[in-house]
Amino acid sequence: MLFSLLRQPLKASSYGDCHGCSLCILPCPMWRQHRDVMFSPQGLAKSMQNGAVAEDLREVLSSCIMCAACDVMCPEDIAITTIINSARQQLDLLEPAPPQATELTSFIISCDPFVQAQLCSDDLYIIDAAPFHQQHAERVAHYTSLSTQTGCQMNLDLNRMAIAIGAVSLAEKAGMFDVAAQVQWLLQGRIFNRIIVENADDIKILSHATGNTVIHVSELMPRHTIGVK
Ligand code: SF4
Ligand code: SF4
Repeated sequence: MLFSLLRQPLKASSYGDCHGCSLCILPCPMWRQHRDVMFSPQGLAKSMQNGAVAEDLREVLSSCIMCAACDVMCPEDIAITTIINSARQQLDLLEPAPPQATELTSFIISCDPFVQAQLCSDDLYIIDAAPFHQQHAERVAHYTSLSTQTGCQMNLDLNRMAIAIGAVSLAEKAGMFDVAAQVQWLLQGRIFNRIIVENADDIKILSHATGNTVIHVSELMPRHTIGVK
């Protein structure tokens, strides 16, 4: 039963629209570490066009950190992370639950003028990549403006994609993604005193890698509102 399930064609249909432009490779952390087109959204789509099923793609599916940058980059609007999720479900590859949800998302907190007033040019602000990419069209202007107004650095690349860290991801736990190497690349050439993160999972690795103060953006809120979800 399980074998026949694994041999079923993957349900998503949009991978058939991939024309191989390679744009999705540009922001893909999985490709950056493996340097093999098979470990990229393009490789995944092309493999599926040629009949690959979930089991054939187990290594690739285990290496993706689900940052969703590829969804934004693809000119064909292929829902790549939806395809990956669907294929992972067939293999029982489950992404760890995100940090405890809060009523105020990090994005909303970052819109608070009180919070913004505390950011400065000595700060490195780490946007939580997946929610940012999922709302990219609405949020990219906000973060670009925030960086310009405060002078703080951000983990945005030249395509205005957020460089993801991948901490506590399925790929890290499976030994398929080197989070320490990703952090070293992200920090290369940057000078800062403090790091502000939107995802609490990033605190430990960034503290360890830099020795600098690393805080969650909610810690910049007025004290009477801290603790509100
Ligand atoms: S979600 Fe991120 S890591 Fe996964 S294929 Fe897309 S860009 Fe690469
Ligand atoms: S960006 Fe889209 S169309 Fe281009 S190679 Fe990647 S998946 Fe295919």
